[in-house]
Amino acid sequence: MPELPEVETIVRGLRGKVLHRTIKEVRVYDPLVIRGQGPGEFIQKLQGRRLENILRRGKAIIIKLDNRSYFVIQLMMTGQLILQDSPQELKETRVRLRLCDDRYAHYNDHRRFGRLQVTENLKQIPYFRKLGPEPLGGGFSVEWLKKILREKRVSIKTLLMDSTFIAGIGNIYASEILFQSHIHPGRQACQLKKKEIENLHMATQAVLTQAIRLRGTSINTYRDAKGQKGLFAHHLQVYGREDEDCPRCGRVVVRIVQHGRSTFLCPQCQR
Ligand SMILES: [Zn+2]
Repeated sequence: MPELPEVETIVRGLRGKVLHRTIKEVRVYDPLVIRGQGPGEFIQKLQGRRLENILRRGKAIIIKLDNRSYFVIQLMMTGQLILQDSPQELKETRVRLRLCDDRYAHYNDHRRFGRLQVTENLKQIPYFRKLGPEPLGGGFSVEWLKKILREKRVSIKTLLMDSTFIAGIGNIYASEILFQSHIHPGRQACQLKKKEIENLHMATQAVLTQAIRLRGTSINTYRDAKGQKGLFAHHLQVYGREDEDCPRCGRVVVRIVQHGRSTFLCPQCQR
């Protein structure tokens, strides 16, 4: 599932290619991915609009249109937004936009959990109503983290993946951030010590920044706007590395299950 670094990579890739282009034609092949409106209204609200800006908030792509409305794309599990010269759709292409320069933006989604919507007000979309601060933005400070963690009686791994606490972090980066911080994923958030919180803050920004630099992690279906894989998978320290040697101490990396999700850790390095 694309997380903050993957979505940021897609947004940066699109920004250079489609800004100020007009949407000439919209085709909906599968209305299941259209939310908050029917496919007819969706097409009508997009066709003829110019793409004024492309932004990311959490794991969502926000395309600002020239009439002050927003085209929001949530990729969820297997969504891909790929720009290509060919109109040729795939079996999993759910929506296709033709731009004025005769390039095509294909929304592909194998499992169809993605959500596409055009709205005048972002708060109409539940995801934005209670979204926490951006981990690479000004709202995410050590002081804020120290203050808020005191009140959280939940495991730190679960909390990192909670978008109402902090935006954009999912299973892969939560595991990597906690390994980098030397913190066991099962620790209660409210029991972390001052130094550990400082390490957690630093690791969060360092891991996400490096992942963006390497254009994200492609394990399954994630591709950037050009359809290419990201390179961070080669740099994963613990995620998906069960039974391999810990890169830090050489002991074995283990997998545990927390709230139905796999967590990878080194029990020697993370306490
Ligand atoms: Zn270790």
